[in-house]
Amino acid sequence: MIIDPEAERKEILRLYRRLLRHAKPFLKDNDAKIIKKAFNTSVEAHKDMRRKSGEPYIYHPIAVAQIAVEEIGLGTTSIVAALLHDVVEDTELEIEDIERDFGSSVARIIEGLTKISGVFDYGSSQQAENFRKMLLTLSDDVRVILIKLADRLHNMRTLDSMPRHKQLKIASETMYLYAPLAHRLGLYAIKSELEDLYLKYTDTATYKDISNKIRQTRSARNKFIKDFISPIEEELRKHGFNFTIKGRPKSIYSILKKIKKQNITFDEIYDLFAIRIILDVPFENEKAACWQVYSIITDFYQPNPDRLRDWVNTPKANGYESLHTTVMSKSGQWVEVQIRSQRMDDIAERGYAAHWKYKDGANNESGLEQWINKVRDMLENNTGNALEFMDEFRKNLFVEEVFVFTPKGELIILPDKATALDFAFEIHSQIGLHCLGAKVNQKLVPLSYRLYNGDQVEILTSQKQKPNEEWLNYAVTSKARSRIKEALREERKHKSEQGRVLLEKRLAQLKITDNQANLNKLMAFFNVPTIQDLYYRLAMGHVDPKNIKEVIFTATSEKGSSTLDPKTFDREVQKIRGVNSDMLVIGEKTSNMNYRISACCNPIPGDDVFGFETGDDDIEIHRTNCLRAIELMSNYGNRIVRAKWTDQKELAFLAGIRIKGTDRVGLVNDLTRIISNSLRVNMRSITIDSHDGIFEGNIMVFVNDTGHLDKLMQRMGKVNGILTVERFD
Ligand code: MN
Repeated sequence: MIIDPEAERKEILRLYRRLLRHAKPFLKDNDAKIIKKAFNTSVEAHKDMRRKSGEPYIYHPIAVAQIAVEEIGLGTTSIVAALLHDVVEDTELEIEDIERDFGSSVARIIEGLTKISGVFDYGSSQQAENFRKMLLTLSDDVRVILIKLADRLHNMRTLDSMPRHKQLKIASETMYLYAPLAHRLGLYAIKSELEDLYLKYTDTATYKDISNKIRQTRSARNKFIKDFISPIEEELRKHGFNFTIKGRPKSIYSILKKIKKQNITFDEIYDLFAIRIILDVPFENEKAACWQVYSIITDFYQPNPDRLRDWVNTPKANGYESLHTTVMSKSGQWVEVQIRSQRMDDIAERGYAAHWKYKDGANNESGLEQWINKVRDMLENNTGNALEFMDEFRKNLFVEEVFVFTPKGELIILPDKATALDFAFEIHSQIGLHCLGAKVNQKLVPLSYRLYNGDQVEILTSQKQKPNEEWLNYAVTSKARSRIKEALREERKHKSEQGRVLLEKRLAQLKITDNQANLNKLMAFFNVPTIQDLYYRLAMGHVDPKNIKEVIFTATSEKGSSTLDPKTFDREVQKIRGVNSDMLVIGEKTSNMNYRISACCNPIPGDDVFGFETGDDDIEIHRTNCLRAIELMSNYGNRIVRAKWTDQKELAFLAGIRIKGTDRVGLVNDLTRIISNSLRVNMRSITIDSHDGIFEGNIMVFVNDTGHLDKLMQRMGKVNGILTVERFD
């Protein structure tokens, strides 16, 4: 490449003058001077640097400033910051120099930009942390992000000169983060361009294919648009409207998305373009004018009632305002028509900054400000790690909203698919944390209820209520999710502590030292990754402390998972004791042996059982599928006694039944009636634990045998609300 310094100098000046020309309408007092100073500082600082393309580096900051003014509508401070945005990072100049020469607000913006320089590498927590830092400045000054977007847009426009691997990296990062961010800030034009550029570099063939097709169909499209609008134009003029009509095809990326999602070809897309009618009306007449135009259009063309979108009365959270309708053209094609004022169009195209320009005239508490407040909230309250935060944040970028109301009629905007639980957290985290249920439009609904536009929501709370894991299945907003996770972490910590105390006590009782070897044994046995998990499961009752003794004492046992079926068991016993070994008949009054029913597996008549001589003239009765059976058999085979039950029924044995179901009034009564009245079973104890409408109960009963127990369990299973009935040892 041949470098011509004179030509370059001329080009730099041309670019600079163009920038000033665009900035001119809003320049005040000293503004032009400050911009000139920033320009000179930047030229000087970058004077020996060149871009990958070989161009002078200064082209880039000027281009970023140009985008900031022309495409985002930013003012002097932003132009200055854009011109200087790379000097701290890439040159000798320090942030202190900027502060001294250009003031603190420019310095802060550049500081924010410098923090997030470099490629954001998804999956790297350092970069995620940097990004989080940048977002923190969002609440102070959203211009950091707007200039970053301008910077990114220019880099994407000039991606050609980058090596392939960098192209891919920068393009995916753009798609992952910057396009959604532009969308959220209402910068539709920039968002679409970023997406198209992403496609251009990641799937060049498809990009070219679609853009060629758009070009080839242009004249046919223009004719169609002309035919479509000519009767409307006439009518609008008759009504005295000042307006412009545009008919632009959709972006390449959104066309591709449609082709993929609906599995159609390019030619089958009916809404390849939308017709936009932009009205020149004073602010106070906007709404009425939009609806009047709607009425005129639908006089000519039949509208599809399902596709009417009124963002004039309720703007989107990113500030977008417009009235959309889809109507049937004379040739039988559906056409989307967007009706909006000049002001609305400005906001739609250029987003946030344009919004500020009109702020005095428009509604002050706009959705966008609410969103920025929400981001601030999220940042300040997020206690999880940076990557987790990034994911949650991204989730919030692309969502559509649902509009709901408090009982007092205050409007609350939540992301689409938000539930009553999200609403509760939106009102206040204390309300969320103790949220019991909700009334939507006076009707009682569960927390998982999905909200719809216009719902009026009242939250019911109880101080006893606590978040549980399940809530994460239906909490949508980052605010709710991060609060719930935080509360669960706390709860888990608390529970683990209880479990630790429990285990220590149990081990002390058993006179087992709580050394690492023993703890490892326990962790392996219960199949938990950390000791904290073991503590937690103990505290939650998922692990029975009764088992602990056996684990430590019987290191050889194979996790207790294998059991012998009764036949094999009997064969084993016969091998050891001889084929005709004595059979203990349990329950026979004439028996001269003392036996007792072992507590570990709690056998009852009907179960396959064996006896175990304990050594003090006693025989323990175990079920053949008892966890200890194999261990006893392999270590003390000669002490195993074959055993069976007598047929007599007068004896009663204790058995445990565990039930689960949905709670309702009178349920316990129904259960106990079955147990004591209809089957004449004696109950020893009943414990019921009920939470969130689900209840779990353990019932200990005296039965004669397994047949008796089965009958009882069957009857209980038929009780309304009972989901499972199972026996436990
Ligand atoms: Mn840059």
